[in-house]
Amino acid sequence: MIPIPRLGILFLLSAPSGAGKSTLRAGLQKDQDFAYSVSCTTRSPRPGEVDGSDYHFLSRENFEAKIAAGEFLEHAQVHGNYYGTLKSAVLDALRIGTDVLIDIDVQGAAMVRATDHPEIRDALADIFLMPSHIDVLRVRLARRGTESPDEIALRLRNAETEMRAWRQYRYALITGTPEEDLAGFRAIMRAERSRSSRLLFDPLS
Ligand code: 5GP
Repeated sequence: MIPIPRLGILFLLSAPSGAGKSTLRAGLQKDQDFAYSVSCTTRSPRPGEVDGSDYHFLSRENFEAKIAAGEFLEHAQVHGNYYGTLKSAVLDALRIGTDVLIDIDVQGAAMVRATDHPEIRDALADIFLMPSHIDVLRVRLARRGTESPDEIALRLRNAETEMRAWRQYRYALITGTPEEDLAGFRAIMRAERSRSSRLLFDPLS
């Protein structure tokens, strides 16, 4: 098939902790047909996480300097730490027609929707990955065992707040098996890539 020139799409994925977002992201990243935007954070790396690939791990001072310099497309405090998306990386990719995936929380998503960059507004496709019930998260977080009981309690409180925002997203993907989540997300990607407003060619000329 001939590749059709088109504008890059900003796939924004949000989900409460424990909804299966990391598994979904890993599945998506098996196909290199988009760029994943590596976020900055002030939280400590978890075992196995790699600086520059999972996150850019920054000190609070360094993060705040970047906020002051206007380097973030969005940033938020989540679970007591800063998280943010670098504006330049996203814009550079979109401008050359590369799709970008950002994995951010609901506060960050609201900031992206309110952006004054028309390119970003037009590029945006926001998706909320949501369990059918909060108890699904409770079980998954306990089973994961990477957080202390206090951290789990904090994440569940945050999850409830985040789940209230699901209707602000264009798409809601209700979680099923990892395979179903991946297939659902891929279907959204395919549909967004076919939107006529994104295609930059004239079949009649
Ligand atoms: P975790 O610490 O488990 O990797 O991520 C915690 C939360 O922070 C997740 O909901 C994740 O989506 C969110 N997050 C990760 N990167 C960013 C970012 O760049 N901006 C915002 N606003 N949230 C982020």
